[in-house]
Amino acid sequence: MTFDIAVIGTGAGGATVARELSKKGLKVLILEKGKRHMGGTSVNHIKITPLDLKLDLSSKNKEKYNFLGFPAELMHIEDVGGTTPVSLANACYACSTCYSNSATKQFSIHDIDLFKELIEASTDLKVSSFHRDLMGPATRKIVEAGENLGYFMEPMPKFIDFSKCNNCGLCIGGCKLDAKWDATHFINEALDNGATLISDFKVTKILHDNKKVTGVEGIFGDKIKTFEVKTVILAAGALNTPEILKNSEIKEKVGEGLFCDLFITVGGFLKDANFNKEIMMGVKSEFGPYFLAPHFSNQIVSLLENKGYNANSEDVLGIMVKIADEANGKINNDKSIEKPLTERDLKLLKEGYEKSIEILVEMGVDPSSIVSTSIRGAHPGGTAAIGKVVDNNLETEIKGLFIADASVIPQAPGRPPILTITALAKRLAKNISKKFGDKNGK
Ligand SMILES: Cc1cc2nc3c(=O)[nH]c(=O)nc-3n(C[C@H](O)[C@H](O)[C@H](O)COP(=O)(O)OP(=O)(O)OC[C@H]3O[C@@H](n4cnc5c(N)ncnc54)[C@H](O)[C@@H]3O)c2cc1C
Repeated sequence: MTFDIAVIGTGAGGATVARELSKKGLKVLILEKGKRHMGGTSVNHIKITPLDLKLDLSSKNKEKYNFLGFPAELMHIEDVGGTTPVSLANACYACSTCYSNSATKQFSIHDIDLFKELIEASTDLKVSSFHRDLMGPATRKIVEAGENLGYFMEPMPKFIDFSKCNNCGLCIGGCKLDAKWDATHFINEALDNGATLISDFKVTKILHDNKKVTGVEGIFGDKIKTFEVKTVILAAGALNTPEILKNSEIKEKVGEGLFCDLFITVGGFLKDANFNKEIMMGVKSEFGPYFLAPHFSNQIVSLLENKGYNANSEDVLGIMVKIADEANGKINNDKSIEKPLTERDLKLLKEGYEKSIEILVEMGVDPSSIVSTSIRGAHPGGTAAIGKVVDNNLETEIKGLFIADASVIPQAPGRPPILTITALAKRLAKNISKKFGDKNGK
């Protein structure tokens, strides 16, 4: 069988391109390293990668800011659907109240107008606001406490079909009711449109001749397998795309410029708060390059136990501080990740930490119980950025090789990026389908 296009990876970027191009009648081959879980992917599949922030874990600073006392980590998933099945369904993009360096602005510098595609992506993902009457009592109290302190809290846009949602608060476990959008929805549509999916296929390199794509090579079972194809969309995610590019002889600036939207969760003890059973991040309070949002983390429960509290999951409140960190990280050739925490990023985390404590105390949390998780990242990006590794059509120096995942985003959005990645992938699909011509006239 011959294919017009090979798409590598089935996350936010890859699934979108596969869906859009198969809808246009193109013969799409989808190659995915991970497995297809018919019952849905879940939190058990999250891969945790150490993130070297160059912290001095023994420093005195950690007595006041205990998040400086733990090693940092980065999360992602390698299965059909990519990292999207564990998302909290937060759907952000630039708007008047958001950080000026967010979604649309950083692309317009590269002459990319994403606004139309962001609207289309919002429609496809059925984004709607998280209504106040769906908020649990603890989230409402966080809103009340924040607003008493002058921290305006706005409802978080969500890609949840609330007519199917039972408010279980288990979005991160992969939605059993299919109420939350994830990229497997787009993959299923692509398959209905005639695309071919091969899972458990690890792409190792893109084959090319005279700087033009000729095919894809990878490992299937224990065998090396190749496909001949002239157009390839690489969407293996910001942690894996660099390795495939380097194996394919594209090396300059590849793997540099990593950002992660670093975050901490600050939490404390409040008996029977029952916050763990609510939809997380139902609201957000914006502070330019960072925002605060209600967030439950199991790490807080363990930290409270270590402090001598007899805490169950029901007895914990938490607030996430998420920052747009500097794009200063690097994926090394041995796949280790370095990302020195800059003074600026540390200042933002500290500011958010202090505000979170104010809110928790206002809610009645015992101040001496307050702790913070380690610094984590869940939005890796920037490792094959526009203007450095791809041009503004998302094409690399090898003709016919395009990238459509978070690695092309130049700067940390500091906001959940799925909508932005989907919009970029939609824009790319439009350009590619124009190139092929609309085969079935749709
Ligand atoms: C716990 C958690 C919660 C999150 N919540 C939100 C949220 O609420 N809203 C939001 O916008 N974002 C959220 N995110 C972030 C979001 O999920 C990611 O930013 C997004 O999925 C990245 O999309 P991507 O296409 O770049 O990569 P991914 O979605 O990671 O997809 C990459 C795909 O490529 C595949 N792949 C990798 N290597 C190869 C290879 N060699 N060959 C073939 N295939 C390969 C992988 O298996 C994977 O399927 C969350 C992330 C986490 C961890």
